Amino acid sequence: MPPHHARVAHRPIVRESVAPPAGPKAVISLRAVNRLKSGHVWVYRSDVLSSASPAPGAVVAVTDERGRLFGSALYSSSSQIALRMISSGPVADFPALLRERVRNALAYREKLVRDTDAYRVIFSEGDFLPGLIVDRYNDIVSVQILTQAMDAEPVRKALVDEFSQGLSPAAIAERVEPHIRELEQLPARESGLLMGGKTSTIFSMNGVRFHYDIREGQKTGAFLDQRENYAAAAQYAHGEVLDVFCYQGAFALHLAKVSSQVTGVDSSRPALEVADRNAALNQREMDWIEANAFDLLKDYSAAGRQYDTVVLDPPAFAKSRKNLDTALRGYKELNLRALKMLRAGGILVTCSCSYHVSESEFLGVVVEAARDAHKTLRLLERRTQAKDHPIVPSVPETAYLKCFIFDVT
Ligand code: SAH
Repeated sequence: MPPHHARVAHRPIVRESVAPPAGPKAVISLRAVNRLKSGHVWVYRSDVLSSASPAPGAVVAVTDERGRLFGSALYSSSSQIALRMISSGPVADFPALLRERVRNALAYREKLVRDTDAYRVIFSEGDFLPGLIVDRYNDIVSVQILTQAMDAEPVRKALVDEFSQGLSPAAIAERVEPHIRELEQLPARESGLLMGGKTSTIFSMNGVRFHYDIREGQKTGAFLDQRENYAAAAQYAHGEVLDVFCYQGAFALHLAKVSSQVTGVDSSRPALEVADRNAALNQREMDWIEANAFDLLKDYSAAGRQYDTVVLDPPAFAKSRKNLDTALRGYKELNLRALKMLRAGGILVTCSCSYHVSESEFLGVVVEAARDAHKTLRLLERRTQAKDHPIVPSVPETAYLKCFIFDVT
C-alpha cells in the first residue's frame, strides 16, 4: 500500500481509541474546536454547548459535538473563560501534573535566567499552568492564585511542597488580589504566609539591589518582566537621565552606573519612598519627583529642559481594545514630549505593557511623535518581556510587553 494510504487510514483509528474518560465533561462548539486546534488554550463560556455543571475548579474532559476528546481543561463556574486547557489527553491526577509542570518551570529558569535571584517562576499559560503566577524574590516565593482550580486545597499543598523542595525558600507568601477572588467567586482571603516566617528580604537583578516586603501597606515587588531591558538600557544610556514612571527606581538605579545624573518621576509616593531606600541600598544619590508624568513632561519640555536619556515605562493605558485610541494618544503625547527634550545622540527607552496595543501600533505612534518633534529615530533594540515570562506564540495573550531603545538625533 502506498504510504499516503497508510497515513489516511491510520488517523481515525487513533482518534477513536481516545474515548473521553469518566468524570465531568464539556462539549464545545466548532469555533472553540478550531481555536484549540490553532494552539490556543481558552474556551469562552459562550462556546461551551453543554456540561453537566462541573464543580467549580474541576478538571473536565473536553469534547466536540461528536464526542471526540480534545483534552482536559480546568473549569471555572464564573469566569468568561470557562475552560483553560491543561492537557491534550486525560488527566487523572491534577496535583501530580501540576508538580511536574512546576519542576519543568524551575528547570526552564535554571537554563535561561542569569544574573538575578528574582524572577517569575510560573507565568500562567506561559508555563502551561493557567491561573497561577509565582515570583521568586531571593529567599521569598510569592504566589498569586487567579482561578478556582488553582485555589483548591490539594493544589495549594502541592505548590508549597514543590517550591519548598525546588527553591528551599525562607518563606512562601500568598499575594491576594481581592477583586480577582470576587470575580472568580472565591471566598475572601488575606494576603499572608503559606510557609516560613520571613516577610522582607533584599534581592538583586544585574548586580543592583532592591528591597522586597510582602506586608500589607508596604507591599513591594518588582516589574520582573523588565529585568533584561534594564540591562539592555544600561548599554546605551548616558549623561543626564530622566526615568519617567520610575516606580521603585529599577531603570533609574540600573542607569545610575553609566550616567552623570538620574531623576526618577512617579505619581506614587509609597513607590518613591521605596525607590529612595533602594538608592541608599546601592549607595546612589538620585532625585525623585512625585508628579503626574503628563504634567511634568509638558512643563519640562515647554521650559526647554534637556536630557541625554529618557525612559518611558507607563502603566497599561489600554485595558481593552475599546480604549485603544485614547491609549495611543497617551503614548503619542508622552513620546512626543520626551523626544523634544532629548539632546542630539540621545537615547529613548520607550515601553508599552498594554496587550491590546500591538508592537506595530506602538512603533507607529513613536514614529509619528518623532516626525512631529522633528527628530530622527534609529532603532537600537526591539525588545519584549524577560525570558522568565515565556511567550507561547499560539496564545497571543502571553506576549504583552514592548520595549524599544532608540538613538535620537
Ligand atoms: N518602570 C518601573 C515600572 C513602572 S509601573 C519599573 O521598571 O519598575 C508604572 C508606574 O507608573 C507606577 O509606579 C505608577 O505609580 C506610575 N504612574 C501611573 N500613572 C502615573 C502618572 N500619571 N504619572 C506618574 N506616574 C504614574
